[in-house]
Amino acid sequence: MIKVGIVGYGTIGKRVADAVLLQDDMELVGITANTHNYKIKAAKKKNIPVFPIEELHHLLDKIDVVVDCTPKGIGASNKILYEDMGIKAVFQGGEKPDIGASFVAQCNYAEVACSKFLRVVSCNTTGLCRTLKSLDDNYYIDKVHATMIRRAADPWDIYHGPINALVPHLVVPSHHGPDVRTVIPHLEIFTTSISVPTTLMHMHSIAVDLHIAPTVEEVISLFKNTTRVRVVHNDDGIRSTAEIMEYAKDLGRERGDMPEVCVWSDTIGVWGNKLMYIQAIHQESDVVPENIDAIRALSNLGPAHESIRKTNISMNID
Ligand code: NAD
Repeated sequence: MIKVGIVGYGTIGKRVADAVLLQDDMELVGITANTHNYKIKAAKKKNIPVFPIEELHHLLDKIDVVVDCTPKGIGASNKILYEDMGIKAVFQGGEKPDIGASFVAQCNYAEVACSKFLRVVSCNTTGLCRTLKSLDDNYYIDKVHATMIRRAADPWDIYHGPINALVPHLVVPSHHGPDVRTVIPHLEIFTTSISVPTTLMHMHSIAVDLHIAPTVEEVISLFKNTTRVRVVHNDDGIRSTAEIMEYAKDLGRERGDMPEVCVWSDTIGVWGNKLMYIQAIHQESDVVPENIDAIRALSNLGPAHESIRKTNISMNID
């Protein structure tokens, strides 16, 4: 059993904690609380051991792997402590890429398996990597242009916006393209980004130049067979991020989560060697199975397909 501790029990941390509890090769030793709030109250109700942040050492003493889910930048200062105590750590996408090897299970599990520190890349980068890796493996990508239409804030968050504007990111490329290259280094990718007033999901509009031109049916079939990618259809009444979230609830998903990247079959178009498609990313949950696989990769357990299979079965992921 891999003994796991979670530092930072917010949007990502509480989901990773629940996912660890589902694994038969992991034990959740505890989580940290830096303030008392409803999330900690709920964790206690689930009998999850809670360590006040002042007692972080006591948690670290008892574990093999720490999953650091603190807000952006705090992981970097915590890393010094983890290093001192000889504990392997998984960090999140808000940290800078040099904190550890960037990780997306279906792209580079084997290459980074011996690392001491992994960084599960951001929700957007994870979503881009999943579909682009599959396309590159099968049709050889020449180059990619993707526009990220980003949710303003998470649903619980009363502080961030915009609430009444579309806000372009005024630097190109946006950080997403370079971040994808920390996972798939050879990929030629240029990204732009716009923040919009919604909390449900991000959406990506993607144009890919390929060496081999597939048919629309071939791309649909490829994505249906790509793990952690779900093909959704207008015919099923799924025309928006709102309906995807409702579908996740109807499927009985924990917290109404949709960890799979959802690609609309109706948006897949081929024009010469150019492929276009639109995908939606549930920012609160797509990185959660990646964190579970990252814990196994750090612990030298594998191979990738076996970890992905175990994680998917436990979390009921396609
Ligand atoms: P969050 O604000 O929801 O949760 C962070 C938690 O850490 C909070 O509960 C907070 O109380 C706690 N915390 C704050 N300072 C701490 C400290 N010094 N020590 C221990 N705990 C502390 O943040 P989040 O959205 O879960 O983001 C965490 C990381 O995951 C970030 O790197 C973020 O970029 C990344 N991420 C977020 C999303 C998303 O959409 N929310 C998606 C993918 C990746």
